[in-house]
Amino acid sequence: MKTTLRKAIHQMDVMMAPLILSAVKEQNALNTYLFHALFQDKAELAKNLCDPQQQVTVATFREFVAYHKSKGYTFVSPVDVLNGLLPDQRYIMLTFDDGYYNNLRALPILEEFNVPALFFISANHVYKNKAFWWDVAYREGKKAGMTDEAISSEKAHLLTLTDDAIDAHLIKKYGPECFTPVGETDRPLTPEELNKFAQHPLVHIGNHTCDHAVLPNYTAAGIKEQISKAQDILEDIVGYRPITVAYPCGEFNDTVLQVCQQEGIKLGITTHHAKNFSPQLYEPTNLLTLNRFTIWGNEDLIPQCDFYRSDYHMLDKMKGMLKKFKAKA
Ligand SMILES: [Zn+2]
Repeated sequence: MKTTLRKAIHQMDVMMAPLILSAVKEQNALNTYLFHALFQDKAELAKNLCDPQQQVTVATFREFVAYHKSKGYTFVSPVDVLNGLLPDQRYIMLTFDDGYYNNLRALPILEEFNVPALFFISANHVYKNKAFWWDVAYREGKKAGMTDEAISSEKAHLLTLTDDAIDAHLIKKYGPECFTPVGETDRPLTPEELNKFAQHPLVHIGNHTCDHAVLPNYTAAGIKEQISKAQDILEDIVGYRPITVAYPCGEFNDTVLQVCQQEGIKLGITTHHAKNFSPQLYEPTNLLTLNRFTIWGNEDLIPQCDFYRSDYHMLDKMKGMLKKFKAKA
């Protein structure tokens, strides 16, 4: 389907969502949401110190939690999910990927609403106080006068590489110091901060590999190392071996799932935008490949939330019809 047409239908789905929600009861499910960096405000974003990613500020995150509280959602931890969810309730699980220091800004909000959250940590970034490569590519690219399009296409290329190859590319271009974080906006948590953070009863820590590895780019041995070593490092820092994983960039394959099972990981999460329905989510493969929605701070929040809650999306129906038509043709 052409991008412009797809965008137009999506816009229609977003506009229709509140009407659909008022007319049809929302299906019971577990909705999980992905956040990355949590920016203090728009002014921090404007400094171009790191990749703006989804541009979510503390205020947006608070509004997001308040919205779902007001809609009667039960906020759950991974332990609650594994203990079994009731089929007649609507659940939400909050997740943050990567291990940014700025994720500590979520804590007063989690406390205010008494809701848990799951933080997936790229272990070596914390261990070595190393900046994330996409922040380096963005910050240094901006300084060098690259356009946003040029930075995006460089990032798309780097996503196909292993962490070693990405590092080599950026160090060759910007020098060996480029992976030193520039401040509180881009730096990862320190091991001491993560240790303290993990002790909070509302905070759960999960595996996000050693080096933010896009796992299908690695050999079987490389996949094993990225997952198992991260378990070791995180156990050292937080005192337990994580039982959850978020696959960097949502990418996984059969080897990844096997290694996770061997490592005692019980719950895995992707970036596929969909609800998780019970009891199907408890099938072993599904529990290791849960779906997750993404929120954008540069778009209106409530229409996004309504859209994800709505169970009728014209775009999905049309894609389904197109698939059937192609299969017949
Ligand atoms: Zn990540």
